[in-house]
Amino acid sequence: MRILLKVSGEQLGYDEGGKGVGFDVERAKWIAREVKKALGNSEDTASATQIAIMVGGGNFVRGAFFGNNNEIGQTTADNAGMLATIINATLLGDIFKSEGVPTAVLSNVSVPQVVDDFTYRRAESHFRKGRVIILGGGTGRPLVTTDTGAVNLALELKCDFVAKATKVDGVYTADPTTDPSATKIDQISYADAINDTKIRVMDKAALGMAGDNKLPIVVFELLQDGNIARVAAGEQIGTRIA
Ligand code: UDP
Repeated sequence: MRILLKVSGEQLGYDEGGKGVGFDVERAKWIAREVKKALGNSEDTASATQIAIMVGGGNFVRGAFFGNNNEIGQTTADNAGMLATIINATLLGDIFKSEGVPTAVLSNVSVPQVVDDFTYRRAESHFRKGRVIILGGGTGRPLVTTDTGAVNLALELKCDFVAKATKVDGVYTADPTTDPSATKIDQISYADAINDTKIRVMDKAALGMAGDNKLPIVVFELLQDGNIARVAAGEQIGTRIA
């Protein structure tokens, strides 16, 4: 089983007025331990669960925020966002290693002093050695987000599915934090997830790419003990988009 786990930048930050900002080392350590549970104890790296993690950068920079003014162009803002994901990926990489999780950090944006470039062959080699791969730099191109990067990387690495970690326990008919009538959906088609304007769980571009390639997406709640392991084991939690 090979899984692409998408963790947003906000999930790595401290809670500040409902938003995740900065980098919370304790949260990152907890995520490392949860990923370790999901990897299991198999000595056989060929049959073991393999996990690649695409990290976002919204705890530091989001291109949409800076891009909406005259002084900073969209491309510069998005590039800053991608650099933020590299900050997260490299910090997270050290924390994973300190928690005893064999880990390699790679980036789709070249910052050779800081992190190794992503290449397909390098990623496969790390997987063969039993390492978790943490990917910074998104797709390496502006005007998209790490959701699209996650789906793209999952397709490239032939992952079985994308596990999208969120604040809530799946996709709801409306925003459950503001609409009490919202109900949880266990399974939804790509088309319905794309066409329903109330569903904003993931970029529509990412959903479109997943749908074109029949790549399932499981949306699940990150902050529950054991949830990453449950998703990795194929348990039916959260919402399955397929
Ligand atoms: N970004 C980009 N290209 C990519 C991935 C990310 O330009 O392939 C930029 C974009 O500005 C985005 C920011 O990096 O807003 C941070 O990524 P994202 O918003 O996906 O982070 P998350 O919301 O998951 O924390």
